[in-house]
Amino acid sequence: MTTVNNSSAKPLETPPTPSGSAAGFSYAILDSIEQEIAVIQKDGQIVYVNKAWVRFGEYNGLAGADWLQSNYLDICAHAALCNEPEARDIYSGLVAVIHGDRSDFSYEYPCHSPDEKRWFLMNVVGLNGYTDDLFVVIHSNITQRKMAEQQVERLSLLDPLTGLANRRHFMQFLPAEWQRNRRDSTPISLILLDIDDFKHINDQHGHIAGDACLKQIASLIGRNARRPGDLVVRWGGEEFMLVLGNTSHATALQMAKELLAGVRQIESPEYGRCTVSVGLSSAVPADDDCEALIRQADSALYQAKNAGKNQVFCYGAITP
Ligand code: GH3
Ligand code: MG
Ligand code: MG
Repeated sequence: MTTVNNSSAKPLETPPTPSGSAAGFSYAILDSIEQEIAVIQKDGQIVYVNKAWVRFGEYNGLAGADWLQSNYLDICAHAALCNEPEARDIYSGLVAVIHGDRSDFSYEYPCHSPDEKRWFLMNVVGLNGYTDDLFVVIHSNITQRKMAEQQVERLSLLDPLTGLANRRHFMQFLPAEWQRNRRDSTPISLILLDIDDFKHINDQHGHIAGDACLKQIASLIGRNARRPGDLVVRWGGEEFMLVLGNTSHATALQMAKELLAGVRQIESPEYGRCTVSVGLSSAVPADDDCEALIRQADSALYQAKNAGKNQVFCYGAITP
């Protein structure tokens, strides 16, 4: 086991200032970091900015701004009046810290330029221990982290094999779409497709050919869902769900039949031919229970399977 001998380590009592004053040394440190830092008075008057702050201003069209003649609270109030919603929150947070209602305030906000997406984290904290009258405002660029978070969020909603939405995405999407159709008194339809005898495809042609089949059917269904109220979902292993907002039963039935015919037409060198069974349910939403529509599509699919597969069944209808 490695041990660290701390016996010779002594805390620095004074900063090492080989040349110049301790204040000069402190300013040099503040100018060397990439966060934009300002110090403001209780009335919002700016009394210090570091070089990163000045550079950020220049980059955003404020070259030559006299920051030490500017009031940061006024800047935020003005931005809030110009309909920048984040500026209103930042203003309130600043005031809360200045009034001592809270010890610090942090806020993440977008600040996109015409050329790039950017996000920042703003912190305000009192210069406690030094004076009660000054406050440090720090803006840090958190774009990389935000982009990574957004990428993770996007990926968490996707099925990696087919690139379709996954069930998690569906569970967010359907209730919202349900409510939209409820407000508009328009019908919403679900088409649930299950590949027939898919196990045989895997068994006969191998798992990779099975994957190719899933991708091909996914792509066929995906081509049929292009409107904002539509979502194509990989529902399970070899099952797909198509959500069709503002779509009547008759239109959805036509689409379901076209999908059935489209699948029948595929002839793949990898797995040959396959068919699907399809369950369809439609409703004009009248309550909050969107899950009933899923159960109905599932029940219609079950009927299509029991009736011999390779066909469409509608919930509530006796014949396909
Ligand atoms: P049915 O006509 O009644 O729907 O029969 P089926 O064989 O299609 O259904 P079953 O539920 O018996 O089998 C589904 C198979 O799908 C079993 C599973 O191994 C396979 N499967 C699930 N996910 C994947 C996948 O991502 N890739 C491949 N290649 N196979 C998968
Ligand atoms: Mg299945
Ligand atoms: Mg199946």
